[in-house]
Amino acid sequence: MAWNDWKWQLQNRLLKAEDLIGKLELIEEEKEAFEESKEIFSFAVTPYYLSLIDPSDPNCPIRKQVIPRKEELIRMPNEVEDPLAEQVFMPVKGVTHRYPDRALWYLSHICAVYCRFCTRKRKVSNPEETPSKDEWEAALDYFRTHPEIKEVILSGGDPLTLADHQLDYLLSQLNNIKHINHIRIHSRYPVTLPMRITDSICEIFRKYFPIYMVTHFNHPKELTEDASVALKKLCQSGNLIMMNQSVLLKGINDSEDVLESLNYLLLKAGVKPYYLHQCDEVFGSSGFVVPITRGIEIMYKLRGRRSGISIPTYVKDLTGGGGKIPLNPSYIIENREKGYLMKNYNGDLYEIIH
Ligand SMILES: *Cc1c(COP(=O)(O)O)cnc(C)c1O
Ligand code: SF4
Repeated sequence: MAWNDWKWQLQNRLLKAEDLIGKLELIEEEKEAFEESKEIFSFAVTPYYLSLIDPSDPNCPIRKQVIPRKEELIRMPNEVEDPLAEQVFMPVKGVTHRYPDRALWYLSHICAVYCRFCTRKRKVSNPEETPSKDEWEAALDYFRTHPEIKEVILSGGDPLTLADHQLDYLLSQLNNIKHINHIRIHSRYPVTLPMRITDSICEIFRKYFPIYMVTHFNHPKELTEDASVALKKLCQSGNLIMMNQSVLLKGINDSEDVLESLNYLLLKAGVKPYYLHQCDEVFGSSGFVVPITRGIEIMYKLRGRRSGISIPTYVKDLTGGGGKIPLNPSYIIENREKGYLMKNYNGDLYEIIH
């Protein structure tokens, strides 16, 4: 059936406000934001991901991730085009080599869905940003001649937009580089286009074990039957080790209950919660930002009460390219000459002497 064909889903993405007529009734504020955001950041949603929206709820957590809102047009003084300075740390087109032992490789400008809070909205959806075959070779040469690179992260846009034979080629080339310890793939397709997870792509992944995949679920509603089947396939047929990163988003997942339920559903589907990101300071993101103090409070409520493997590391990726730093609650109440006064998850105080 066409619905289950990932190429059909991509070709039939809804790309403008008029495409939503008869499918989703826009509220006035969304209509205005659609019009005004046109030039700034593309809109796209797969029929599949659109079907997860509750049409009767203007605050639906899926809707807020894909339909533009007025807040997106606001520019705050701290917001920038390229918050993580990815273009600055770019030795070869598409490759961001910020950390000593790993490099991020931007392989496609296409995503199935354009998330309104995307940190790379300056470049995703722009065809000029996808590297050409020559540029692939330049990147591969860079990895080959930099023995300090132990890990390459395939990213984008969505790297699973590439055809199976292209992914097979790139994975085999990376796999042949002796100093590469393991490969990682960052993809949101298990969330927005689970049909992309076919038997044939899983067969390719199997050949290059171990591959670590980091996907991007933000809300329990995204863990549908289709998504769960895709995740199970990735673990069981693709032999992938699955992890998830979420972005902490106002009105979408900024509560301990929503995150607890998301993280347990992920574990049930074979996925380890890896990161919870503080929203990046990208232009137009202020409507999504949750204060860090609130993020820390949420983390405090989860740690200890809930399984340790369900708890991601809450991080801020520093604006300007300083890298990721953890933002976890402080359990240290007092620094003492010999030890600490500490607080456990219940708020009880304990003296640690060393
Ligand atoms: C986030 C990021 C990574 C991966 O960082 P981990 O902490 O290893 O997950 C690598 N390179 C760049 C440029 C990044 O932004
Ligand atoms: S899937 Fe990732 S890269 Fe693509 S729009 Fe969403 S956040 Fe940006």
